[in-house]
Amino acid sequence: MSFPGAYRPRASACPGLFRIVPARDGGICRIKIPLGRLSEAQCRAVADAAARFGSGIIEITNRANLQIRGIAPAQTAAVAEALVGAELGPDRPDGDDIRNVMVSPTAGIDAGQVIDTRMLAEALLDRVQGDDSCRALSPKFSFLIDGGEDVAVVDHPHDIWVSSLDSDRLAIGFAGCPPVEAGDGPPAGTIRKDDLGEVIVAAAAVFHEMADGPAITRLRHLFAAGSYDAFLRRLELGPAIVGWRRRPAKSRPVGIFPQRDGLAYVGAIPPLGRLTPEMLLAAAETASRHGVDELRLTPWQGMLLPSVREPDAAIASLERFGFVCDPNTSLAGLIVCAGSPGCASGLADVKADALVLAPMLPRGKRTVHVSGCAKSCASPAAADSTLVAAGSGRYNVYAKSTDAGAGRFGRLLARQVTVGEAGRVLKDIP
Ligand code: SF4
Repeated sequence: MSFPGAYRPRASACPGLFRIVPARDGGICRIKIPLGRLSEAQCRAVADAAARFGSGIIEITNRANLQIRGIAPAQTAAVAEALVGAELGPDRPDGDDIRNVMVSPTAGIDAGQVIDTRMLAEALLDRVQGDDSCRALSPKFSFLIDGGEDVAVVDHPHDIWVSSLDSDRLAIGFAGCPPVEAGDGPPAGTIRKDDLGEVIVAAAAVFHEMADGPAITRLRHLFAAGSYDAFLRRLELGPAIVGWRRRPAKSRPVGIFPQRDGLAYVGAIPPLGRLTPEMLLAAAETASRHGVDELRLTPWQGMLLPSVREPDAAIASLERFGFVCDPNTSLAGLIVCAGSPGCASGLADVKADALVLAPMLPRGKRTVHVSGCAKSCASPAAADSTLVAAGSGRYNVYAKSTDAGAGRFGRLLARQVTVGEAGRVLKDIP
């Protein structure tokens, strides 16, 4: 498939396949990966594009997509053409932005799932790309289809989320996440699984009718203006189940895990969320050697190799290429954004600082997020501990907390400290 050269992406700060957004280290091309799944051939195409047209840095995003960094202005058309040629493009040129449909990285293989969401998500991807109202939504407008898996993203707010109640019905909510804790907001209603596409298209149309002004690009903007009840009345949803909550989910799988079919999957993390072309090729070839033409990305800067026949051998292969496969190492829990070398908003070189911090962190399965500014691009949900840059080499340190008065990162433990001081603060957390 190729797209006409006359196509011009609309203005946005969000990178896309046809919208290479400049950063300090060159242009960023974001590749929306349907359901976070890549074939070996697609891995080869991304690795080749990153090496030929970019700086060789490939990042896994918090929506389980990929982005290639360091693209020169003269290469923007060539990189898009190469990726479209590998069937990584949308159904139509103006359909790229709306492909924000997230599922669990273990969809279909998860031991605890209520439903297999893969066909539902594929049908929704087709539907939203084919609908005018959906294609006109913001590039940040996003959808979550939760199949009740053990491993799931249930703390990442989405404009529209659905969560399986049983094999036929979905709880639905807007501008948030499925409720897990006692104080979480309830679902807005229920829908039949087969009606998902209709409901999403209707919600997009109602959003456009009610959105008053260019500043309202997400449902949370609409609701902040007091329109939540009116929005729901227009949608005619089934009643919400009073008191329903989704069971807690696990995140960031690293190591070997059983699948529902008796096979196993392997979870691995590229250090600091960055892949080289060689690492991406090695992961794809490892999956292929185990008879699987599929590699899955996770929204926690990692990847999964599903249905692996010899998981220990797969891990040995991945570790040879630099992947972190031991959940008890500090690098397995480190989440880091681009920081000041790549991003104009970055206040510190978080990648370099995270490598200094890593040996100081206690071993264990705790997550530590090092963010170059308060935008928190790498992790929309609070990690167990968060360092937010306050200047070059200086950080505010937070511990996750739901206490009254705690902010989005949790409780403030230290202000404007060095990386070494932050490491000592984190060691003292019980
Ligand atoms: S969190 Fe801030 S520094 Fe990091 S990538 Fe996002 S905008 Fe840039």
